[in-house]
Amino acid sequence: MQKLLTPASAVTTHEFEGRLRGVIDLHTHTRFSDGSQSPTELVEEAAAKGLRAIAVTDHDTVDGLPEALAAGERLGIEVLPGVEINCEYEQVTMDLLGYFLAGAPTEELERELAELRAYRDRRNDLMLERLAGLGLPLDPADLAAAGENGAVGRPHIGEAMVRRGYVSSISEAFELYLRRGAPAWVDRRRLALGHALRLLRESGALPVLAHPGIIRTDAAGLDRIVRHAARGGLAGIECWYPLHDEETVRRCLDLARKYALAPTGGSDYHGTVKPGITLGRAAGGRPVADRVLTDLRCLADDQLTRLG
Ligand code: AMP
Ligand code: FE
Ligand code: ZN
Repeated sequence: MQKLLTPASAVTTHEFEGRLRGVIDLHTHTRFSDGSQSPTELVEEAAAKGLRAIAVTDHDTVDGLPEALAAGERLGIEVLPGVEINCEYEQVTMDLLGYFLAGAPTEELERELAELRAYRDRRNDLMLERLAGLGLPLDPADLAAAGENGAVGRPHIGEAMVRRGYVSSISEAFELYLRRGAPAWVDRRRLALGHALRLLRESGALPVLAHPGIIRTDAAGLDRIVRHAARGGLAGIECWYPLHDEETVRRCLDLARKYALAPTGGSDYHGTVKPGITLGRAAGGRPVADRVLTDLRCLADDQLTRLG
């Protein structure tokens, strides 16, 4: 296998006359989950910025991918089809990103995603009941994501609350009502980490642990999660992320080395739903070099060869 990336090569700023060059973003959302843009609008923005590739990673749905891939073809920017799935291990929750670099999702994965979305709908109803009980009624029809199979969640409830004038921003809605432990919060269903890894692997997807720096655990807990996931087929770890400070990036890179994982990065762009986040900007506001994608592919080829 080719030598994996050194940290320095991934954090160089690549800018020329206001456009980004030779950089990618491996974590973005559209209106098929809780982003504010259609897949086409997202890919258009990425192309206008000069990004070489983006991964579209909506929560619990792959239905926005055909539109994103078509836009990518038209605009000459590589679109990696992906998904983001919430998981748990030892009572700690975390997100997995899956990149479908070797074909479409299996029917089993599609079925599991449909079930996760059905649970979301029930949970949304419960959260609306709680909000109504607090004197803040909303109409379920206010919570639309794009498409029939969109994944609706708390950001849509926050948007609807802003439209009704109950709060002045989505982040205020989270702070007062929707964040974990707040009065309208209801927990959601998630997959066991090992099960989600297996589903992604059987789909030919490369699983990557999303934003380890915001997992609610300590260093030893994170190490156990990564070791368990690496044994279950984890391919990469999202090291460069807007909420990761330099120390966190370094700890993630150490874990990548320790468990032979590809270091990856992305912005988790949600458009206007998360106003503080910019497409193409990860840790410290810096972009992620396209070399990261080359290394992820290289690792995947290597693993596939070993599996025969
Ligand atoms: P859900 O899938 O319904 O549990 O909602 C999770 C989504 O809400 C994720 O995309 C988070 O990034 C997003 N989120 C969490 N906290 C906030 C916040 N304070 N403001 C906006 N979005 C948030
Ligand atoms: Fe989200
Ligand atoms: Zn995300």
